[in-house]
Amino acid sequence: MTSALADGVVIVDKRDNIEWWNRSAERQFDFTPQDLGRKLTNYIRHPRFVDYYESDCYDEPLELVSMRQEGQTLQFHIHRFGDGDRLVIARDITHIANLERMRKDFVANVSHELRTPLTVINGYLETLVDSAELSPAWNKPLDQMQGQTRRMTGLITDLLTLSRLETEDREAGQSPVALRPLLEQIVAEAKVLSGERAHIFEIKCEPRVELLGLENELRSAFANLIYNAVNYTGSGRKISVVVELKPVEVIVKVKDNGDGIDPRHLPRLTERFYRVDHGRSRETGGTGLGLSIVKHILLRHDADLRIRSKLKKGSVFACHFPIKRFVKNVGEH
Ligand code: ADP
Repeated sequence: MTSALADGVVIVDKRDNIEWWNRSAERQFDFTPQDLGRKLTNYIRHPRFVDYYESDCYDEPLELVSMRQEGQTLQFHIHRFGDGDRLVIARDITHIANLERMRKDFVANVSHELRTPLTVINGYLETLVDSAELSPAWNKPLDQMQGQTRRMTGLITDLLTLSRLETEDREAGQSPVALRPLLEQIVAEAKVLSGERAHIFEIKCEPRVELLGLENELRSAFANLIYNAVNYTGSGRKISVVVELKPVEVIVKVKDNGDGIDPRHLPRLTERFYRVDHGRSRETGGTGLGLSIVKHILLRHDADLRIRSKLKKGSVFACHFPIKRFVKNVGEH
């Protein structure tokens, strides 16, 4: 049955040696009879495959551009069975990957092309607003036009950020990022955003905690969460940013005691344009893309976002980073 499958199937024994393969796997990896009993990671050497294979955590499949056949994308599933044996399934998803690439390119190109006309419209609007000859009857429409162009500019910036996050090499330029000063900066900006609503801010973070990553991206992720807390929390309430060091992970939590979110919305919250209350989000100047951006940035840092919330009680947005991202400073215990 497995030899009739279009998917490549390889069985690996508990010592990681190849035990059996089907016809599709033979084509995908150019196996010859001599390869029986050899290590699979000698044939699929891509560092991400080796990491995935050795991680022993196969809840999510792994997608890789093939190093053997140009332009081919493979999706790997691994299942454990029997006495430490593993079933490795390699599915050719080149067609889906190409469509996905076309979608990403389309969004990136449209966003890019819309930027110039918007800048021109914005420029003329500013001139008109400053013009002394215009009748006061134009004040309100011009104000609305400016508001809408600001919204559109925000949307385009967020869409471009998302496309960049999806396409850029995620390993490039990573370095230790000190969390405390970063969070202090963001909170200082959040205080300006809060303005007369006078939220109370609190930061709990050891002074020397550093995470390996991209500073700009981490800033953008935490800022999105902290600004959301400001936007969806009533005046004078408390917003805390807490960094917890655990044996296997570092958690950055943004807690508020604001509006809270009905649990039925939680699974879909990080989808693009998903908003619990469209009117409310528009009022706060939201694009509905903030949490998607956070999710993508965390993914690029091997981290994940967990959301807990209770209506009228508040929410906790927790970013869980694996301990390998924590930079141990010399002299620290
Ligand atoms: P938006 O730009 O609309 O804020 P996000 O992707 O940042 O988009 O958030 C998606 C939705 O999640 C928001 O529209 C809002 O309904 C909900 N949300 C996000 N953060 C909070 C929070 N701290 N408290 C309550 N609701 C929130």
